Amino acid sequence: MRWVWIGKCLLSTAALCATGALCAQTPPSRATVLHAAHLLDVERGALLSPGEVLIQGARIVAAGQTVSRPAGAAVIDLGTATLMPGLIDAHVHLFLHPGAEDLQTVVESVPERTILAELAARADLEAGFTAERDMGTEGAGSADTAVRNAINAGLIPGPRMRMSGNAISITGGHEDAIAFNPAEHISSNATYADNAQQLVAVMREQRKQGSDFAKIYETGEDHFANGTLTSPYQYTEAELAVAVAEAARVGTRVGVHCTAEPGAAFAAEAGVASIDHAYQLSPQTMALMKQKGIYAVPTFAISEYFAAHAASPAVARREQALLAFHAAQFRQQLAAGVPMAVGSDVGPFPHGTQARELELMVQYGMPAPEVLRADLLNGARLLGWEGEIGQLKPGFYADVIAVDGDPLTDISAVRRVRFVMKDGAVVRNGPAPGQGDGEK
Ligand SMILES: [Zn+2]
Repeated sequence: MRWVWIGKCLLSTAALCATGALCAQTPPSRATVLHAAHLLDVERGALLSPGEVLIQGARIVAAGQTVSRPAGAAVIDLGTATLMPGLIDAHVHLFLHPGAEDLQTVVESVPERTILAELAARADLEAGFTAERDMGTEGAGSADTAVRNAINAGLIPGPRMRMSGNAISITGGHEDAIAFNPAEHISSNATYADNAQQLVAVMREQRKQGSDFAKIYETGEDHFANGTLTSPYQYTEAELAVAVAEAARVGTRVGVHCTAEPGAAFAAEAGVASIDHAYQLSPQTMALMKQKGIYAVPTFAISEYFAAHAASPAVARREQALLAFHAAQFRQQLAAGVPMAVGSDVGPFPHGTQARELELMVQYGMPAPEVLRADLLNGARLLGWEGEIGQLKPGFYADVIAVDGDPLTDISAVRRVRFVMKDGAVVRNGPAPGQGDGEK
């Protein structure tokens, strides 16, 4: 039924566009040809040279070394750049910005945070991220529904979004303002569910309010000392299995925040879609994730940022040690064949800078072509848009970026985005605001 509402919004957008007031996100009616020195074939891990993409409306009609040029087609020449699919971030928080994360929900109203979320969506899109999975509004309820719908209606710029609404957690668990005086009743950043019945009730309410999937906190609070990580699980395997079944009932999925065992084993057995953070996974859990196709989403970029912006040298050392621990575990996960997706956890660090995540995955041992497949092919599957995004192929959405350099041999190219197109509409062509010469 909610698509009816979006349909109404599309009509009103068209009316606005007729007046010339708002046309930026509307794909041109005539065909467009993108031409550049190279085009990335993600599946083969190879460049085509030159590269061209033919676009009609919101979709790709043809892609390859050359494409036909229909009469009247607009040709955009991107010179020496490499054309590639728009980037995918499988773990973002549009409703967070750098600063004291918990205090945002105390100091800022939901309307204020919603406006900031709109700016975050624009920043991510302009950085080349044309699709994202938002892993929780952290106390802003289902305000993400409004942001997603406004993007889909062309009212504001942003990536195509999968929204979770608020994340779900237990009383006294992760994000429950446990560092504050309980007598002050500081709100949790998550929605409470303390058993399977409550999980189902919360998921149904969030579904009613527009969520696309459920984000559940499965571990917390983490304790890391002397090279050992422990984090209590929050839900049993049986409870998570009920949540996964409830999501499957309406064709959606569950993603979990999960840093350690035994929570990871519970989540994998229950059949979640992704285990995010995944600092530590047992050999049995890794085998199960490979067998079931459950993605690990490492989120290295947030760890690097926290280590660099720690409140004290002692905290910085702890964060750096935890990052090194995770990097070593990541290499074991790669060796075990755990499927990977790319998610940065952007929000607590500045929106639009999260291409750093792909660099860190290469730095910690994953070859660049595999990181690009994890981002684009696995990301499309995890977000439920397989066959529609993540590749430059006929029939796919025309979500296309152009980067300076060859991302297969120098992954930092994904930070030098020169051109962004989403749904066949040009978002920007040239250096981003504040991007200077394209270097960040
Ligand atoms: Zn997160």
